Amino acid sequence: MIRMQGLVKTYKEVQALKGVDLEVASGELFAYLGPNGAGKSTTIRILTGLTRLGGGSAWLNGYNIAEAPIAAKRQCGLMPQATNLDAELSVWENLATHGRLFGMSASERNKRSEELLEYVDMLDRKDSMAKTLSGGMKRRVMIARALMHNPRILFLDEPTVGLDAGVRRRIWALIKRIHQEGATIFLTTHYIEEAEFLAQRVAFLNQGRIVALDSPQTLMAQTGVWAVDTVSGHEMETTYFRDREEANQFITCQLGGCTLRRVNLEDTFLSLTGSKIGQ
Ligand code: ADP
Repeated sequence: MIRMQGLVKTYKEVQALKGVDLEVASGELFAYLGPNGAGKSTTIRILTGLTRLGGGSAWLNGYNIAEAPIAAKRQCGLMPQATNLDAELSVWENLATHGRLFGMSASERNKRSEELLEYVDMLDRKDSMAKTLSGGMKRRVMIARALMHNPRILFLDEPTVGLDAGVRRRIWALIKRIHQEGATIFLTTHYIEEAEFLAQRVAFLNQGRIVALDSPQTLMAQTGVWAVDTVSGHEMETTYFRDREEANQFITCQLGGCTLRRVNLEDTFLSLTGSKIGQ
């Protein structure tokens, strides 16, 4: 459903993408994970037609984004990282404007807006001005807006950035539901738990290159099962084990404080790149 071949993007002296090859299957929930500045948003901006390719090719549902940009754009909906609802328009008008841009008739727009606002649990706020909504509500309306023209692919760029834990979980539940109903979802995140919780497959992006690609479970298993964090002075070091007994034996030999925990995706990223993803 999404195919990228040798994607390259350079902004003046910054090489944001250095040749990205990736395929995402129809109906997959895929997470593109990496630290700030890795090139995640640039990839989404290229795929959704917001910025030009520097090199390489990409296809959305078979449509080449450079040769058939309009057809490619119709295949996808985008929730960008920054909130970009029209603040002075109502929730309903925000959806209607989007529908008009995609050539939907008034009756189609009304039917779809009602369905989607019901779906994201915002129908009772349809007449509220966008600027009066909370952060989580704005995100839900942005998801509804992205789905307005019935796209096959949903791009979510850092869908829960800046939201508190409870609101984040509510957005996760919504993303899972959209996926279960058949959409292909490509999300970027630098929240490890988000990728672990949601994604069937994950790509680690670091400095414009994919450094690993697999299911979260397989990636984590490469590092180990158990992690022991040891603190000495201001330094923290982590040692990984497959066997819990071995981890416990290691702990008994330590002089300082230790914490035993399960390996997570952050550990795998750290062991592959030497740097952290999250905050
Ligand atoms: P991420 O989404 O992973 O945080 P981005 O794709 O936003 O990363 O950025 C990748 C790199 O490209 C960064 O070094 C960033 O500073 C640079 N960059 C992104 N957009 C622009 C731009 N419009 N002009 C110049 N540099 C940019």
